[in-house]
Amino acid sequence: MIEIQNVCKTYENGTRALRNVNIEIEDGEFVFIMGRSGSGKTTLFKLLMKEAELTSGKILVNDMDLQKMPRRYVPKYRRKLGVVFQDFRLLRDRNVFENVAFAQRVVGASTRSIRQSVPEMLKLVGLSSKYKSLPQQLSGGEQQRVAIARALINRPEVLLADEPTGNLDHENAIEIMKLLEQINRLGTTVVVITHSQEIVSKMGKRVIKLEKGQVVSDSRAEEQADS
Ligand code: ADP
Ligand code: ADP
Repeated sequence: MIEIQNVCKTYENGTRALRNVNIEIEDGEFVFIMGRSGSGKTTLFKLLMKEAELTSGKILVNDMDLQKMPRRYVPKYRRKLGVVFQDFRLLRDRNVFENVAFAQRVVGASTRSIRQSVPEMLKLVGLSSKYKSLPQQLSGGEQQRVAIARALINRPEVLLADEPTGNLDHENAIEIMKLLEQINRLGTTVVVITHSQEIVSKMGKRVIKLEKGQVVSDSRAEEQADS
């Protein structure tokens, strides 16, 4: 469970990127964080990944207070999060198999385990036949599938995706969203940043809207208020 409590983030130059943000995300949820450019979405992500420090408030991830987390534990914590970016961030000189395997090698997985789990993951994302391709030989949608396989290979509890469809055409964007939905059904909590109203409307999931660093609406809170 992710608990964001009264979180404020003010950058050194005085920019107030987040103002009193309160969000609770349960295990197994699928949540969109929506907002225009500059609304604070990336800042929120960086706080969740412990790449930036909050100014006030509290973030708990599975009851761990991120501010109190010892520095030496941070790399281990980050590996519990699968992360996907708009620009895929694949290794250009490695093939699909190696891009996914790499994430396992850095955590010291055995060759045997890599040989078993990489093909499984490539099957899940629909890329079994392309395991030898280099990133530049793939379409944008396929590259994002590789990035998703890499994010999931170490079985994170939470998948964070920052504008995962920002570089894709509509058709590919929908395919990627369907894949994220499938991953969510298999048990992973999925948090997706987007500014696409179209995608959010199509998916029918919980939507949290940020404006100028504040939560201005949360579809789940509204449902609870209605019932
Ligand atoms: P989004 O991801 O929604 O586009 P950001 O979280 O990147 O929004 O930015 C929120 C606000 O904080 C913006 O006004 C942005 O210019 C500012 N900002 C982001 N990063 C920094 C930084 N490192 N230093 C100062 N201001 C920043
Ligand atoms: P990205 O969303 O690609 O990760 P950043 O988070 O670095 O990019 O930046 C997001 C927004 O914050 C951009 O609009 C950028 O101009 C602004 N920003 C980043 N760093 C600073 C900074 N040091 N001072 C002011 N604005 C910043």
